[in-house]
Amino acid sequence: MREKVDTIIHNIGELVTFNNTSPGDITEDKAGILRDAAIAVSNGVILDVGDTNDILRRYRGETVDAQGNLVTPGLIDTHTHMVFSGSREDEFEYKIMGLSYDEIQERGGGIYRTVRATRQASVSDLVAKGLGVLGEMIRHGSTVVEIKGGYGLDLDGELKIMEAAKLISERTPVKIIPTMQAHIIPVEYRGDRRAYIDYYVNKTLPEASKRNLAVYSDVFCDKGAFTPIETRYILEKSLELGFRLRIHADQLSYIGCSELARDLPLDAMDHLDHMPAENTRVMAEKGLAAGLTPTSELAMFSENLPPVRELKNWKVPIALGTDYNPNNMTPNIQLVMDLSTYKYRLTPLEALAGATINAAYSLRLHDRRGRIRKGYAADIVVWRIPNHKWIGYLWGVNKVEKVYVSGKEIWG
Ligand SMILES: [Zn+2]
Repeated sequence: MREKVDTIIHNIGELVTFNNTSPGDITEDKAGILRDAAIAVSNGVILDVGDTNDILRRYRGETVDAQGNLVTPGLIDTHTHMVFSGSREDEFEYKIMGLSYDEIQERGGGIYRTVRATRQASVSDLVAKGLGVLGEMIRHGSTVVEIKGGYGLDLDGELKIMEAAKLISERTPVKIIPTMQAHIIPVEYRGDRRAYIDYYVNKTLPEASKRNLAVYSDVFCDKGAFTPIETRYILEKSLELGFRLRIHADQLSYIGCSELARDLPLDAMDHLDHMPAENTRVMAEKGLAAGLTPTSELAMFSENLPPVRELKNWKVPIALGTDYNPNNMTPNIQLVMDLSTYKYRLTPLEALAGATINAAYSLRLHDRRGRIRKGYAADIVVWRIPNHKWIGYLWGVNKVEKVYVSGKEIWG
């Protein structure tokens, strides 16, 4: 008598499970790669994984033929600023002409321009626009998406963005991880940084905490944003309010931001384009993930690269993110994976880990997501390519055929 399940995905040419390894320890022999495999799914959870004939003999239910293609855990986008209003397409030409991020910002462009537009937008406008972006993310395989605030800056603006993120979360099966973002000092506080930081930690963060609007608190620690001392103050207050911690570190310059990993309980530091290579050691010792965003380096016309070889040597889990924002408008996590092979020389398997097991670790979801394992959420991608070695090798097209979140097909 075969056991009834909801769905059986069978005839999988290559199934990458990451079942036998830990985040950051990514090698072909430990990746748990199965051939001619099948997955049985019930009640949104992976019930069993094994050989196709064996699974079909033991279970019955709706069958999905993967047609000999690659199947992997659902993709995870660990870094986005996808809730905002307006666009900045004219600034793209300034960037092509060679104007810097600072010069564009000094002219009233950049983040400040998006802040003005976002402060004027309604929650329903932000939700509608956000759901449109999220739809594109889903079509490219994303099953978990982190969403940061940061384009409101004042109390009303930041709460509006986080309310929009909450409504988006309620209208999609995709798991949304909401993050408060200390992004930049707003124009109205430019003469008094300290007053803004006190306002942010004493008004904005407590209200977001009270309304349960975010899991994480993140600070843009860099030249032109927040100093390491300011970042530490904001993060210590965030911790008291119950937020988990992550930061943007060493993206545009090195002013000591990644040093904060030494004694703050950070889950991840993202960007790291100017991080001294020796700081990878403390990341490894403290169990941080490194969040890399190759498309935002392109969008900044930056030649700098994070210290990838050292991160790999120290087995720091390298997670990937689109960094979708008005300055870097790609919702496509596959493009990020593809570019990580060319820019960082990640292997196709490491690129896949960057959007699955390591990404789940970056958001501390790795006990339920990022692997194909019995008891894990049935977040699954069926690809159009025969094996993982096609990641990066075939690029510029959507390689995803079907996307499942908690056992439900949400695209395909
Ligand atoms: Zn960012």
